[in-house]
Amino acid sequence: MNKKIIFSLGLSIAVICGANAQQHAHDWKCSTVKGRVAQMRNAAKPTIAHPDEDKYDVKYVKLDLEMNNTSTTITGNVTTTAQVVEPGLTSYVFEMLPPLVADSVFIDGVTHSVIVSGDTCTVPFVTPRSAGSMFTAQVFYHGTPVSGTPSDIHGISNLQSPSWRNWVTFTLSEPYSAKDWWPCKQSLTDKIDSADIWITVPDSLKVGSNGLLQAVTPMGGGRNRFEWKERYPIVYYLISVSIADYRDYSFYMRFTGSTDSMLVQNYVYDRPTILTFNKSIIDSTVQQLNLFSDLFGRYPFWKEKYGHAMAPLSGGMEHQTMTTLGFFQSWLVAHELGHQWFGDNVTCASWKDIVINEGFASYSEYLYLDKFRGRAAATADMVDRQANVMSQPGGVIYVDDTANEDRIFSNRISYDKGACAVHMLRHVVNNDSFFFNLLKGWQHAKRFGTGTIADLRDMAISMMTPEVNGIKFDTFFHQWFYAEGFPIYSVKWNQVGTDVYMKIDQTTTVPGSVRYFSMPLDVQVSSASGDSTVRFVVDKPSQSFHFIWKKPMLGLTLDPNNWLVDSVQNIMRDMTMGINELEMEMIGVAPNPASASWDVAGLPSGSTLILTDIAGRVIWQQQSASGTVSVPAQSLSSGLYLLRVNTLQGAGRSFKLVRE
Ligand SMILES: [Zn+2]
Repeated sequence: MNKKIIFSLGLSIAVICGANAQQHAHDWKCSTVKGRVAQMRNAAKPTIAHPDEDKYDVKYVKLDLEMNNTSTTITGNVTTTAQVVEPGLTSYVFEMLPPLVADSVFIDGVTHSVIVSGDTCTVPFVTPRSAGSMFTAQVFYHGTPVSGTPSDIHGISNLQSPSWRNWVTFTLSEPYSAKDWWPCKQSLTDKIDSADIWITVPDSLKVGSNGLLQAVTPMGGGRNRFEWKERYPIVYYLISVSIADYRDYSFYMRFTGSTDSMLVQNYVYDRPTILTFNKSIIDSTVQQLNLFSDLFGRYPFWKEKYGHAMAPLSGGMEHQTMTTLGFFQSWLVAHELGHQWFGDNVTCASWKDIVINEGFASYSEYLYLDKFRGRAAATADMVDRQANVMSQPGGVIYVDDTANEDRIFSNRISYDKGACAVHMLRHVVNNDSFFFNLLKGWQHAKRFGTGTIADLRDMAISMMTPEVNGIKFDTFFHQWFYAEGFPIYSVKWNQVGTDVYMKIDQTTTVPGSVRYFSMPLDVQVSSASGDSTVRFVVDKPSQSFHFIWKKPMLGLTLDPNNWLVDSVQNIMRDMTMGINELEMEMIGVAPNPASASWDVAGLPSGSTLILTDIAGRVIWQQQSASGTVSVPAQSLSSGLYLLRVNTLQGAGRSFKLVRE
């Protein structure tokens, strides 16, 4: 038997006795956390190259480019339609990285000159533009950007698949590399309302991209133009193209419990055996789409498609509606698919908040494993991540240096600690319907937009229900997202008769950041005839607990289901515990002063209570049968009284009681 009950802090006592176990309301007290973290002194790289880019709001872009799979060479034009958001805008500023060269720029059809300074291109208007007005800029350009390498893929790459030998030209713009291949505004918070991506390639090739393929138009000279249309808002770095001699492996899927269907479109290398190797995993994308739609809300881009385009990268990139994927592995498919909700539908509003993307996509892997491979496989995944997090003492999820791409995409922090933090959030709320409602609420409230860690915390607070009443989300998010370190627990315990005494001491790996964590901690108590798991809220450096366990206790295990990023220094039985002071320490009286009764809690079983007045006359006495006893006060006159508690072991403690 393994029964889980919630133990509330303070004076109450959990009695583990099978069917009589009571569910207590979650009482998670705030701890005093020292060391307000680094967020105040962070080095932040602006997401845009020039502040003037924020003076317009991009409504639409159209890429009309000629490309191939033999080089990164691009020729073509990009049209941007935008609305002026500040009065008197004097120029259109966009980003484009040399060696790309702007050949000509048209504003509303009229040719304009362009001033190039590094990656910033400024096109002065003839007359300033008023706030609210629209303009359309068309930039004709060409060039051969430096290709990414297998170990450093960014911007645009022309590489050969090591396994299948196909040459592929593909883009990967996250976080700052859209400007490597198209003239753009690299702003996370200004999502592009809709886009068309037209790419002309030799007719032996196909082009995968965002949204729906509208047409493949013959252009003469052995060329075809792939015309993709994305009508959902999209952030600059998710616009992508992938060009190779693909085979289109497409089918329709049906959403569970609905007649709605959706295209699942996969561009796999045109090799005879490729589907033999990958078909079952590609096909299982449907089950994953339904799983995540069930958990997070309907797949956000369901009126278009989902799918994959193969490219030689050592993982995947969650390009909106069509992930660019190096290889088909179910966990990787799950990660990139999870991103369609966390990253694509709701994008991190700043690179400091990358966990909004990567923590949840990594947790999607866990959810996939839990559903389709079983709890043991999911737990093994989580334990691996926890071990990776704890391979070093510190590391803050909230990114302190967004100029450093390795820091933004730190596997240990943004991915693994991110997934662990999401898992611990689920543990802390201890209520899956609340947890998944929070995720669904997040997806709905922030749909096609952006969000931060602080936004998520505030949403959790605002969605608080009676079931999770009292949870200090601000403390939780502070400790795990904005601060660093993890708790190290040491436990001493003893059993005296049916009374179990437990003292949990806590240190942390970075005490300057978090002196002690405030977390619910599961404790599995074991005996020869079965185990039970009890949840304690541990929110002090040192805490004593007392509960009744009727079986002879063999030992205990902390966090038996591996919810926490924590380490256990030692667990030992201390035969001296529970005899004297400790059990006395556990006793508490409330309210005091009282008018109806005083509740005395934390009593070792068999304790005797004697109430005397100030003159020493015995007014009332009782031998306690359970952990809590009510001492009647109603019939007493107001004044001071003395309560003496004597245990069977001979210890005693007195309390001054005040009758109002
Ligand atoms: Zn990811």
